[in-house]
Amino acid sequence: MSAQPSESLATAPAQILHEIFGYPQFRGPQQAIVDHVVAGGDALVLMPTGGGKSLCYQIPAIARQRAGHGVTVVVSPLIALMHDQVGALHEAGVDAAFLNSTLDWEQTQEVERRMLRGEITLLYAAPERVNTPRFLSQLDSLRERGKLALFAIDEAHCVSQWGHDFRPEYRALTVLHERYAGVPRIALTATADALTRADIVERLQLEEARQFVSSFDRPNIRYTIVEKKEATTQLLRFIEREHEGDAGVVYCQSRKRVEDVAQTLRDAGINALPYHAGLDAAVRQKHQDRFLRDEGIVMVATIAFGMGIDKPDVRFVAHLDMPKNIEGYYQETGRAGRDGAAADAWMAYGLQDVVNQRRMIDESPAGEEFKQVMRGKLDALLSLAEASDCRRVRLLGYFGEQSSACGNCDNCITPPQVWDGTDAARKLLSTIYRVQQLSGISFGAGHIMDILRGKTTEKVTQFGHASLSTFGIGADFSEAQLRGVLRQLIAIGALAVDAQAYNTLQLTDGSRAVLKGEVQVMLRESVSSPADRKSRREKTARGAPSPAAAALDAVGQARFTALKAWRAEVAREHNLPAYVIFHDATLAAIAERGPATLEDLQGISGIGSKKLDAYGDDVLRVCSAF
Ligand code: ADP
Ligand code: ZN
Repeated sequence: MSAQPSESLATAPAQILHEIFGYPQFRGPQQAIVDHVVAGGDALVLMPTGGGKSLCYQIPAIARQRAGHGVTVVVSPLIALMHDQVGALHEAGVDAAFLNSTLDWEQTQEVERRMLRGEITLLYAAPERVNTPRFLSQLDSLRERGKLALFAIDEAHCVSQWGHDFRPEYRALTVLHERYAGVPRIALTATADALTRADIVERLQLEEARQFVSSFDRPNIRYTIVEKKEATTQLLRFIEREHEGDAGVVYCQSRKRVEDVAQTLRDAGINALPYHAGLDAAVRQKHQDRFLRDEGIVMVATIAFGMGIDKPDVRFVAHLDMPKNIEGYYQETGRAGRDGAAADAWMAYGLQDVVNQRRMIDESPAGEEFKQVMRGKLDALLSLAEASDCRRVRLLGYFGEQSSACGNCDNCITPPQVWDGTDAARKLLSTIYRVQQLSGISFGAGHIMDILRGKTTEKVTQFGHASLSTFGIGADFSEAQLRGVLRQLIAIGALAVDAQAYNTLQLTDGSRAVLKGEVQVMLRESVSSPADRKSRREKTARGAPSPAAAALDAVGQARFTALKAWRAEVAREHNLPAYVIFHDATLAAIAERGPATLEDLQGISGIGSKKLDAYGDDVLRVCSAF
């Protein structure tokens, strides 16, 4: 054990983990990271959501404060969550505070005074605050007195334009290194791709920092990507069948769609709330608080929602529209199942998604080089969506990790039939070519498919397209099949959609190879609902009210329910989410043990000394009723 400072508080990381957080041991690379930072080293931590990043800077902050080094400044973009983050530390008995625009002048001054006295262990601040002359001069003063212990830069990918949450203010954080050389820095992110990682190192001048890279696998998340038909109905069925009463997030692309889908879900009796940047800040905060504090809320949101949301029991994340790239998909789906229990990542994907995403890139004002990178990233996501082999292998492969078939994705569970769409692809492309030749203009997907399938529509008659040699030669293909082929052709760049001209289909340089038969087009057979039978079989296990409590006997269940009611009460009084008081897993462990004395509570994961003092007697009282 290391030397104890005057107050005889433990500075050894393992003891802090035990005493403050009530956890028996470090998880994965936490120990190595904490040791490195406590000793004054710089670190870049790449760990998936739910991996346990917070402890990687919180424990060094506590250890360094106790050793007399003073305040740790945590830079975080998540103003709307700082109250809860700091509240969670208070619950654990750690002196923490935040400085942001939600405080009034007096509150701000009070926090600043305490900070300047070096009393605060963790001070959370938004990056724009860090760059103000006022704050910098306060840091100078701390530094001069040796009371600036550590900088923690959370959500570090915000510094990179390749990340999915670029914040220009993060760029100015180089000041921390330049002005306070010698004060250790730890940067943390759940973004894994190499481009973003390199950008973080360069932008934050972390060349000397040790990198800690975890596996990005989230084994408890089941990935499913279905073909989009009636997206909202499909979503509704998915929720009703597999996630009744569960908390979840549904991502949509536009504000309007968010509103519509939230309404549809509410009409169907689901407890859904909308969240997007067009809503009043107060409404957004209210909805976020309800999502965090109430049980079983489905948040229908744009990507404006989610970063830093640490609700552990989100049981599903659904995408009704395709994200921009795999990084976004991985981040958003990663918000499911932080507690380690089974969770779903479900996406409905269709031709329109491909068209929309391509158009957004084409129409963006960015430079051509940037667009090229964005197209490459979109292509990678499209091939994930079109894949007929293991989704997880592809996902992890994208982040440079090797793995083998996972057994917990749609393709592993129900291997899709694959069919050779090469012939259909050639027929489609040659129809597009002939129509263009004959009429001198281009047409959209619906009309091209009508010609190929030999349908005499009004438009076909009007333009005389029944006379084309390809008219009716694709009558054997279903519309769903042809749509699949079109989607794949667009995905591989063998066909383009002209957004400026009514989404008409255009041949590309890549079309020729397919027309000549040099490229094989393999497709997933579109099946109506492959997951139907499977999910019903699993419903009993998954539909349990809380995965943590599933193994309890009747008395245990009763204790668990009573403990949850008590916890809800405390959470309301403290204006914090329930899981900040105790996790479900902790309540389940208490319920299983049926404690009669405070000693009986020792060693239960999640009960640190402060919580034992504050809540031990209450917990015993609740349990004594059974
Ligand atoms: P991240 O920030 O990486 O997404 P968190 O820091 O929020 O993840 O941690 C995820 C969850 O895991 C939290 O509920 C946290 O309390 C828990 N956790 C972290 N480290 C440990 C540990 N060593 N033992 C037990 N639980 C842990
Ligand atoms: Zn798999």
